[in-house]
Amino acid sequence: TEAALIQAEKLAAVGRLASSIAHEINNPLEAVTNLVYLARQGQDAQDIHTFLDLAEQELKRVSVIVNQTLRFHKQSTRPTPCHAKDLFDSTLGLYEGRLRNCNIKVDLRSNAGTSIECFEGDIRQVLSNLVGNAIDAMPQGGRLILAAREATDILSGRRGIRFTIADTGVGISRATSARIFDAFFTTKGHSGTGLGLWISADIIQRHGGTLRLRSSQSPEHHGTVFTLFLPFGLGDGVIADTTLAQSER
Ligand code: ADP
Repeated sequence: TEAALIQAEKLAAVGRLASSIAHEINNPLEAVTNLVYLARQGQDAQDIHTFLDLAEQELKRVSVIVNQTLRFHKQSTRPTPCHAKDLFDSTLGLYEGRLRNCNIKVDLRSNAGTSIECFEGDIRQVLSNLVGNAIDAMPQGGRLILAAREATDILSGRRGIRFTIADTGVGISRATSARIFDAFFTTKGHSGTGLGLWISADIIQRHGGTLRLRSSQSPEHHGTVFTLFLPFGLGDGVIADTTLAQSER
């Protein structure tokens, strides 16, 4: 039956994911094993210190991967009403220092009344992933535009809130954009995990929402716009947590 097929596909996806998580965690753990060995053999106190520092960095990486995968922000059991402005404010609070250091101007457009029922911790996590990526894309400074307003989803005709997270950063090429929602896909080398957008897409799907992007890399007009649509009605039990609404990806 169709349901059995979907179930089999889901299991296969979980299997692939588990094996890539194991792989991602195994690399730094192997590095730690080697570094501890080197530290044991080391004669010079300075060298030993360096090996242990490196080992510590690798362990932090493991911890980031585990936390991201297990949903660092615990999920509340039921959706609660949230103000868009509060969601943005708390996200910006996380990045205050980096925004200042990178010389990024923030343009916040959200009227106080805009609110929606959602799993607050999860949506905070999505917004903080999107804002973190926008900041990463603007190392030389730029503009971060955050907007939220009531809107109708063009495809489904549902009412909800449309969040916009836009940056004037480096932009995303077409080839890259096809892969950014994949687990562990990153262009940031060792400093990225490639889990942010993958988790975000999953969270938005469970909210019955959509996450879309437009990006440009032309020299005169570069940057990326993520549009996040969350439908009203999650709190009415319209979407039970077992039935996933299809997001278009
Ligand atoms: P990570 O940030 O750890 O790399 P993500 O899943 O959050 O993982 O992002 C995957 C990739 O998508 C990034 O490495 C980057 O190449 C690209 N990306 C995401 N958002 C942006 C953005 N606003 N501007 C440019 N590139 C982006």
